[in-house]
Amino acid sequence: MRWALVGASRIAREWMIDALRAQGHEVLGVFSRDAARAAQLAHEWQLPQHTDRLEALRDWGVEAVYISSTNEQHEAQTLFAAAQGWHVLCEKPLATSLAAAQRMVQACEAAGVVLGTNHHLRHHAAHRHTRALLRQGAIGRVLSARVQHAIYLRPMLQGWRVDSAAAGGGVVLDIAVHNADLLAFLLDETPHEVMAMCASSGMGRGVEDQALSVWRFPSGVIASTHQAFNTPHAPTGLELLGEQGALVGQGVLSQRAQGQLWLQTEAGQVLQPLETVNLYERGLQAFADAVAGRPNELADGRAGLRSLAVALAILRSAETGRSEPVVC
Ligand code: NDP
Repeated sequence: MRWALVGASRIAREWMIDALRAQGHEVLGVFSRDAARAAQLAHEWQLPQHTDRLEALRDWGVEAVYISSTNEQHEAQTLFAAAQGWHVLCEKPLATSLAAAQRMVQACEAAGVVLGTNHHLRHHAAHRHTRALLRQGAIGRVLSARVQHAIYLRPMLQGWRVDSAAAGGGVVLDIAVHNADLLAFLLDETPHEVMAMCASSGMGRGVEDQALSVWRFPSGVIASTHQAFNTPHAPTGLELLGEQGALVGQGVLSQRAQGQLWLQTEAGQVLQPLETVNLYERGLQAFADAVAGRPNELADGRAGLRSLAVALAILRSAETGRSEPVVC
């Protein structure tokens, strides 16, 4: 497919341009609000075109766009792309409000184009293996989950994420959405109720940098999630606890294909063999499958809408001090 990049971002530089090329896609060029930034990225990555006018993309022969601008720009850029008949892979959170995300989903559905949300964790080998084991009944009925997703934000990422609520900053919109999509992928359901506490404990300025929450799913499963921006050396992990055993993942909440997964049952503790697959490339394969009408495991627009709804319920609960419904 022929792609344009919308947003001269770090994630495009660090992961997505390589992943697109590795999957055989053509990257035609980049749009940035800033002409010099667009030119710089095009130069660094030998992209044939660059522009600071979104309308200019109409002349490039685009089939799909990868949107990795700051979060408050996702909606307008998605609506523009859908109006051109281009497929859209949009970064998470899909938007900063539920209404905006709903408009994005509806516009893409009406235009007959695929909308994907770049939730990479569901493409991690550990989580795919966890999902397969859950379906085989390896730990029996799942009762609860524990998600430890407290990290340390690299200094170069401590920009809009830590000081701009308007751009969709804060750890909840940044990280809790990933946890919500991952648990939805593993459990095939979205929580309907959330209780949360947030804190601004030094790094966040006007936005939260820590969030602890508990979620209740329609099946009765309950989950605890911790996400943070300012916890150096903290391990990440995901544990699924069932009636007959546990699946314990360590270091598996990562952009990289790393970490370990154990199955713990009466039979003992067994380290699971995992493939090493680039998460973003696998996400692009799922996107291409969706465009081609093949079965796929893409986090689509509706998955992005649901993960955003969970994050917004966390923020509401932290504000009200009460349990809040997940509305989407
Ligand atoms: P960046 O801060 O690198 O870029 C975001 C936007 O900020 C760019 O599109 C650009 O907008 C603008 N920008 C870039 N550099 C500068 C600068 N020096 N001065 C002013 N503005 C600048 O963001 P990230 O790459 O970290 O994140 C982009 C999106 O990707 C977000 O939605 C984020 O949540 C998501 N993300 C997803 C990840 C995943 O694993 N799925 C991982 C990391 C991020 P413009 O070019 O239009 O001017």
